[in-house]
Amino acid sequence: MKGCDYYKPETVGDASRLMASLDGARYIAGGTDVMVLIKQKKLSPAHLISLRNIRELSLLDTSDGLSIGSGVTHSRIVRDAWIRDRYSALVDATQKIGSPQVRNVATVAGNICNAAPSADTACPLLVLDAKIRIAGKKGERIVAIEDFFLGPNRTILEQGEIVTAIAIPKLDENSGSAYIKHTRRKAMELPLVGIAARITLDAADRAPGWKESLRNAPNAEALPGMLEAAGIVCRDVRIAMGVVSPKPMRARKAEAALEGKVVSEALLDEIGALAASESQPRDSFRGEAWYRKDMVQVLVRRAVLMSIERIVNA
Ligand SMILES: Cc1cc2nc3c(=O)[nH]c(=O)nc-3n(C[C@H](O)[C@H](O)[C@H](O)COP(=O)(O)OP(=O)(O)OC[C@H]3O[C@@H](n4cnc5c(N)ncnc54)[C@H](O)[C@@H]3O)c2cc1C
Repeated sequence: MKGCDYYKPETVGDASRLMASLDGARYIAGGTDVMVLIKQKKLSPAHLISLRNIRELSLLDTSDGLSIGSGVTHSRIVRDAWIRDRYSALVDATQKIGSPQVRNVATVAGNICNAAPSADTACPLLVLDAKIRIAGKKGERIVAIEDFFLGPNRTILEQGEIVTAIAIPKLDENSGSAYIKHTRRKAMELPLVGIAARITLDAADRAPGWKESLRNAPNAEALPGMLEAAGIVCRDVRIAMGVVSPKPMRARKAEAALEGKVVSEALLDEIGALAASESQPRDSFRGEAWYRKDMVQVLVRRAVLMSIERIVNA
């Protein structure tokens, strides 16, 4: 590995100025993607600008929704019970990234800036309507996560721009979310398919105690029948799919099919099939396209049910 200079600025402004003044510089956060690329000789920066000493980037702010500073590691998200209760899909994803050693240094922002089609946090952030705060020489801009990814390892970040935080809005009461990472092994594995869902159950005209009666469901599979009988409608439906297209994507036809409807067995089958038809997976050494499509159908149903189960049990 060729040597390179290492800088440790303490403010976002200093990091930006350094980046503008140096040729061939690269930002580094946890380094779990950058260092692998350098070792594989796919990247040879002349300078590395570390973002780890910038204190403002390490903030987790829960005063209005959730703001995740770009220095926040996956481990910090996993450990946070407040986040687990409200934004479960994100915790589902972060707790399965790499190993504890990786999660202790790797950041959520680094995961999306690297923009691998298999990035585990991308789908949860899509269903949670995250917005990305970006600082650059023209000032600050805020971009919806859906517009952030351009393709494999490509984002809308311009030269020198820094992601400062990821902002997730407050969710309505009776909202639940889930992310399912489908892998061959239980740990240290990238997903073959990743599916996230987020649902709100519209309980505006329900008598108190509606949730308690649903808690009697023997398992998640029994919930559709009980919800159908109770006539409880789903709204704010979000479904996102990873590793089935060049960039993480929403399954909009599937979302529209469930929006404003009472979930039923037939509808779960329908949205699974719709999401599979929207996906555009390709064959790779880790999995074939037909298998990924089949798994989308199975996992969309499962992620929706998990989200509903979490609302009922909250
Ligand atoms: C053993 C191992 C297992 C892994 N397992 C998984 C897994 O299961 N799932 C998964 O999704 N990923 C996995 N990864 C990939 C990696 O750990 C994640 O993508 C991680 O979140 C990257 O974060 P980081 O802070 O280490 O990023 P870095 O490597 O520091 O940076 C990644 C990229 O983002 C840029 N960058 C970082 N922060 C900013 C910022 N604030 N503003 C602008 N640009 C920025 C860097 O310049 C670089 O291009 C694994 C990696 C390893 C080594």
